[in-house]
Amino acid sequence: MRKIINLESGNLNTSGSSYSFNPWFWVSGVVTFILIVLLIWNLLHSYSTIKSFDRKELKLERASVELLYHVKSMEKSVRLGAATGDLSFKRNYEKHEEKLQTIFDEINKLVENKYVLGKIEKINKYKKQAEKIENKAFMLISYGKKKEATTLLKGWPYTKNQLFLTETTKEFTKILHRHVQKIVSLEKKFTLSSLIFVFIALVILIISWTITVKIWRRDFKKRKEKEEKIIYLNYHDALTKSYNRRLFMQAGQEEIKRAERYNKYFSLIMMDIDNFKKINDTYGHGAGDMVLKNFAGIIKKQVREVDIPARLGGDEFAVLLPETDIDVAEKVAGRIRQNIEDSKTLYKNDEIKVTVSVGVIDYRQQISDMDDLLHKADEALYRAKRIGRNCVVKNNENVNSEIY
Ligand code: GH3
Ligand code: MG
Repeated sequence: MRKIINLESGNLNTSGSSYSFNPWFWVSGVVTFILIVLLIWNLLHSYSTIKSFDRKELKLERASVELLYHVKSMEKSVRLGAATGDLSFKRNYEKHEEKLQTIFDEINKLVENKYVLGKIEKINKYKKQAEKIENKAFMLISYGKKKEATTLLKGWPYTKNQLFLTETTKEFTKILHRHVQKIVSLEKKFTLSSLIFVFIALVILIISWTITVKIWRRDFKKRKEKEEKIIYLNYHDALTKSYNRRLFMQAGQEEIKRAERYNKYFSLIMMDIDNFKKINDTYGHGAGDMVLKNFAGIIKKQVREVDIPARLGGDEFAVLLPETDIDVAEKVAGRIRQNIEDSKTLYKNDEIKVTVSVGVIDYRQQISDMDDLLHKADEALYRAKRIGRNCVVKNNENVNSEIY
């Protein structure tokens, strides 16, 4: 049948949500939130770790290496001075001494650990003792006593002090290196556990979103089906599954508009079962219902796809035939009437036979609306009833009434 249902004009009551509570949506939301927070926190943590690493640990490790270099350079300068008797090595010595002091100051600022601070104090102590002997050596060099200076530097107190100084400085470097290694391995562990956590969260996220989308789709489908059902019920007769009066009136109104606008024509067949009350009274309401269903089926079979058959109420049916003149409509009506007469409805052990009276009318300019058209069709039908039932009466301007 041709679809002419204007959904918006129907009284559709689709209120009442078909969307069920979806816990997976909340799981997805919470996991998404946790994941975002985790990623942001991870980024901030990595940034601050790298920053503090560069500001503290790496600087300290570098400083400890430089510390040893300057200690050794100072020793080398004093030894060369003693060996050559050249005092210009003192300038070199002082340069390294100055740098060493700067490094000490920096290390003191950065180190918080008491054990490491203890090591620095030790280095400082050995450094001061070395400086005492080295200054004495330079004094001897300045008096031209390079042999005595060399002897002083080769002596056990200086050698022993330098040995301790070198060892303590190396140990200090090792401690710092170990510290850096510890931080790196901690960071590695942290990054790995974060990765595992992010991976688990991602898996949960994918699962929960997949389920959420599935539930949404299912709800959407349910809602659509519900809407379609409501639309169907709004425009169909529950018993015969034919179109109902509401749809018929809308379709007829549309057809009138079309006919007016494009100068088209159409016809309408109105039918009413003869003495239907008797069927109900004799065989019961169930039998009457069966007859009505049978009648609707016969009508559907006899009309085209573009025609609109409907049950208007009770035992009254109608068909709207677009672009069909009254003579063709009359033939269709005759066919329906004949088929009804020839058919029988089986109900329990009874064979029920019925006839139908038919009024046929075509759309003409004098007809203002559907009510008017139905009224005129009713007149034709009434005439068919009056002249003896089981017949077709057509009503147009030229021929007032004809009996078939
Ligand atoms: P007429 O030849 O003048 O049409 O006589 P009638 O007995 O058919 O009278 P009418 O058309 O006025 O009666 C229609 C009857 O249809 C009235 C009502 O009891 C019955 N009816 C209405 N709706 C239903 C229904 O859904 N099922 C059944 N079984 N009967 C219905
Ligand atoms: Mg009737």
